[in-house]
Amino acid sequence: MPVYEYTCAKCGERFEIVCSHAGREDLAVCPACGSRDVAQVFGGFKVGISRTKLNPGTFERTRGAPPKHNPPGRG
Ligand SMILES: [Zn+2]
Repeated sequence: MPVYEYTCAKCGERFEIVCSHAGREDLAVCPACGSRDVAQVFGGFKVGISRTKLNPGTFERTRGAPPKHNPPGRG
């Protein structure tokens, strides 16, 4: 069965509901404070997101020009 993730608008509790699509509304009650003022969280699906490894070299390039440590006027 699908898992729906909800967040409570009253106390901020985040919980999940495992049920069918039809009956989830009846179960959408905050387990912490009992409030029904909850909102479904979209995008919180539990899927294995493979994070792309950032190339350190690429990261360096995004930092822009290197710091200037050679102030003129000396010597
Ligand atoms: Zn709550």
